[in-house]
Order: sequence, then structure tokens, then C-alpha cells
Amino acid sequence: MKAVDIASILSGKYTDERVLIRGWLHNMRSSGGIHFLLIRDGTGIIQCTMKKNTVKDEIFKEAKDLTQESSLEIIGSVREDKRAPRGYEIKVEDMKVFHRAEEGYPIAKKYHGPDFLLDNRHLWIRSQKMQTILRIRAKFLEAAREWFKANGFVEFHSPTIITAACEGGATLFPVKYFDREAYLTQSWQLYAEAAIASLGKIYTIAPSFRAEKSRTRRHLTEYWHLEVEIPWCDLKGIMKVQEDLLAYILDSLCEEMPGELEYLGRSPDELRRMKPPYERITYDKAVKILNEEGIFFKWGDDITWTHEKILTERFNKPFFITHFPKNVKAFYHKPDPERPKVTLSADLLAPEGYGEITGGGQRIDSLEELLERIKEEGLNPEDYKWYIDLRRYGSVPHSGFGLGVERTISWICKLEHIRDAIAFPRLINRVYP
Ligand code: ATP
Ligand code: MG
Repeated sequence: MKAVDIASILSGKYTDERVLIRGWLHNMRSSGGIHFLLIRDGTGIIQCTMKKNTVKDEIFKEAKDLTQESSLEIIGSVREDKRAPRGYEIKVEDMKVFHRAEEGYPIAKKYHGPDFLLDNRHLWIRSQKMQTILRIRAKFLEAAREWFKANGFVEFHSPTIITAACEGGATLFPVKYFDREAYLTQSWQLYAEAAIASLGKIYTIAPSFRAEKSRTRRHLTEYWHLEVEIPWCDLKGIMKVQEDLLAYILDSLCEEMPGELEYLGRSPDELRRMKPPYERITYDKAVKILNEEGIFFKWGDDITWTHEKILTERFNKPFFITHFPKNVKAFYHKPDPERPKVTLSADLLAPEGYGEITGGGQRIDSLEELLERIKEEGLNPEDYKWYIDLRRYGSVPHSGFGLGVERTISWICKLEHIRDAIAFPRLINRVYP
């Protein structure tokens, strides 16, 4: 007999049929000669009822002493039953235990503190909360790839081990690379700009690394970065791409995972109301709002999380902040020809206090301007030789952005901390398990 997945049973596909399922014992109780086994297989959870006289005696006995998380196989018939937790149940005819879990599964049904759950992350990812988030995350990336495919983008991979910073030296992770020093990449940026002249419109979904020294609820040291780069595209164009991509992803999630979103406290209707166009305010306007709110903030300061939190209170859907000063953006951002002290840049901020989820804009395409910015930032042009070359051979106006996958998932799933948007988070004080 072929195993079927619990999700299809719960969709009604196997009602009144005999099925075989495989999974883990999520929970169990017994009463009046019946065992109620909750089985989890990764696609869902279903109640299986085992009556004393409908299975062999030894099976009924074995089930009685089963431990949580034991792995097993069940054969039985599917019944629709309004009283069952998810509307369906399996009447057990036979059972085979693959592995009887040890007694004392560490994750008990009681409150555990965050550190305990992080230490036991390898087990905690089986919880319904983590399982739901990880499924939404997978669907999020699946939808993104669908959108890229439908819109003619090519997936491109840049190296992880690099030799020159693109987002400032402060958060670089050094790597001993034989007899020299290299770094873990912070973004695909410089390589993406080389690749557009080979492939046209490109995207990547890959880890980026940042040695973030402060503890916040929105910084990981290893995070997944969804990045896009497009030739012949300006600031306006790249903002539109972000709107379209995000709208498509949100629609897909609302359409395909409404129950999962609800489970995490996010109403799909709420998300549906957050349709583009997203409002755009300039950095200047943001400064003005902050000052109105009584915050001491000078023009030229970087907008940090505390500021973003205040700004997001004025919006009920994502919004862009544009035209950041040169000094708060990486050297490759193009200065605005009409006002060179600001750049043609835009960050997208999520509402409800979440803040920045993407950063991007138009890149410098002129050789002279690039050399000048590298000098201004005190960087060594030797380190960027090949990158500078790109402005010598067929330079074009181009733009791109980087979206933090975990930042966006945190907002969509209403998470309190970014660590729950990834299975095994890497934080300043955590690289285990
Ligand atoms: P922040 O100011 O919040 O540190 P940033 O300006 O350093 O962000 P960018 O360099 O623009 O961020 O990176 C692009 C996107 O990557 C950000 O908009 C964010 O969504 C995500 N991101 C950046 N740093 C981290 C991090 N340490 N952990 C998780 N996501 C991150
Ligand atoms: Mg940062």
C-alpha cells in the first residue's frame, strides 16, 4: 500500500477509503477502551482512533505505552466526523512502530523560555508554530520564483567568499582563505552588476552574512537575501518591481495559506487590503515627521529602527522612503543629478512597527562618478578594479534592490522576533544547534 499525506485526507480526497499514513505521534490520550492518537506527517495532523476490539491485542497494548514523537505507520479507514479536531479521523486497523521515542521528550506541554527552545531548536521546529512559519516561508519563496519566471528574470548565483566589502567594513565576517584573508558576502551587489551585462534581468535568493554586533529583534548574522538587478531601469522602475513582486507574493499566501496565516494571528483580509501602490515619502519628509514627533534627528543621520517604528505609525500598508543622503548609503548608489547630496535610493518599510524590509535604488553608471564616490568613502580603488571595469565596457543605467526574507516573513507572520522566521537562527550569541 502506498502512503498518502494527511493534508489530502483532510481535504476530503480519501473519505470512506482505506489508507496508509506515516508520521510522528504528536499527542495521545486514552479513554474507555479507545486510544486517540494524533499523528503528524509534515503536511498536517489527524486524529486516529484505535478501539480495543478492532485491532490485534498486542497492537492495542503497544499503542497504550507509546511515547510522544514515536514514528509509526497506520492503516485504517477515513471517516468524516464533525467531532474530530480537524473534521476527519482514521479508524485504525493496523499499526507498525518504526521507532519508539525515548521517554521524556524535552519539549513538554508547558511553558518553555526562549533560550530553552533555541537550545532545543532541532526539536522545536516540529512544533505547530514553527512548522506553520516554515511552510509560509517556503510558499513565499515559491511565489517569488513564480513571479520572476512569469516576468522574464533569470536566477543568478554570486560567490559567498569575497574580497571587497559592498555594505561597509563594520559588519564583515573575515574568513581565513589559505594564506590570505577573505570575507563572507553581505550582498550579491557587485557581482549582480557584472551579470546584468550577461543575462539581463536577474534575481537571487541566497544567504548574506553580517557581523551585527548589536542585539535587536530584526538582525540575524546570517539571513536570506532576495536580490534583484535590472539593466535600463531607474528608481521609479525598481520601486514598481518591488510593489508588483510583493503584491503577487501576498496574494498567493492569502489564496493558498489562509488557515496558516490565521493560526499565526494574521488575517488574510488585512494583508489583502495592503495592495500597491505604496506611498512614497522622501528622506526629507521623514526627517520632518520625526521632528514633528519631538524626536531629535538631524538631516544626514541614518534612520534606525526606533525612528522607523515611529514612522510606520502613520501608514497602514508598506511605504517607501526615497532619496537618502549619500553618507548613509553604500558607495554604489547613484547621486541624484538634480541634487547630488542625496541618492536615487528607496527603502521599503512594512507597517505595524516592522520597518525596513528592502533597500535599493539606482546604481552609479558613470566611471568618473564611481571613482569619485570610492575616493569619498575612503575605499581602495584597487579592491574594486573589476567592478570599476564594468563602467568602461557598455555601462547602462541600472537599478536593483535587496529584500530581507526573514524581515518580510516576520511582518507577514506578525512575529515578535526575527529568529522565528528561520529554522536555525544565527545571532550574535548563537551558532548552535
Ligand atoms: P538595517 O539598517 O536595518 O541594518 P541595512 O540598511 O543594513 O538594514 P541593506 O544593506 O539595505 O540593509 O540590506 C537589504 C535588506 O536586507 C534590508 O532591507 C533588510 O531587509 C535585510 N537585512 C539587512 N541586514 C539584515 C540582518 N542583519 N538580518 C536580517 N535581514 C537583514
Ligand atoms: Mg544594517
